[in-house]
This record gives sequence, C-alpha cells and structure tokens, in this order.
Amino acid sequence: MADYPAIHGPSRPDWNCLVCGDPWPCLVRKRQLKELCQCNIRTLVRYMNEYLRDAHAEITGLSTADITERIVGWCGRPLEMWVVQEHSADSGDQDSRRRRYESNQKAGRYGRHG
Ligand SMILES: [Zn+2]
Repeated sequence: MADYPAIHGPSRPDWNCLVCGDPWPCLVRKRQLKELCQCNIRTLVRYMNEYLRDAHAEITGLSTADITERIVGWCGRPLEMWVVQEHSADSGDQDSRRRRYESNQKAGRYGRHG
C-alpha cells in the first residue's frame, strides 16, 4: 500500500473522492474514465452503471434522478465545459492557443487513427 499512486475512487458510503474529497466521480476521475474509455460513451455508461446500483443504495439525501445524473449524467457531455472554468484573465494568447491546440489534438486523436 506504500508507493501506490492515489486512485480517485469513491469513499463509501458517503461517495466522496478518496483523494480530493469532491462528490464522486470528481473531475480528475471523470477525465481518467474518459481516457480509459477513449471517449466511448456507451462503454463509459456501462462502466458507471456498475456503480449506480450501490450509489442508489448508499447515497442519502439525493433523489434517484439526482444520483443517476451525478453518476452517469456527465458521461455524454464534453469535458471542455470544465476546461473553460480554469480560464484566467491575465494569461495571454499563448495559453489560449495551447488550450485550443490541446482540444484539437484530442478531437483528432481518435478520429484520424486508421
Ligand atoms: Zn478526486
């Protein structure tokens, strides 16, 4: 258990991230999962559905719809909506150009192959 990299898994039964303490799945975990599933939404939803049953059983204070939204609702949405939040005013052109480059690269990575 010593040198193992921290996994952004859910603490149970409160379903917060074990690493950052955010409501699980946290942003980091979402990014990891998107990469893991290569942005295949069906794979992602199937994966998250594994958690959904337990989440419904263990998370209290949220409606069924809210829990479903939290666990699988994000799967179909682009991650860019989070990148935008990191926007800072004084970073110049270079930063926004790099961000654009990164999102282009991401979009092209899976499409161009083969
Ligand atoms: Zn986390």
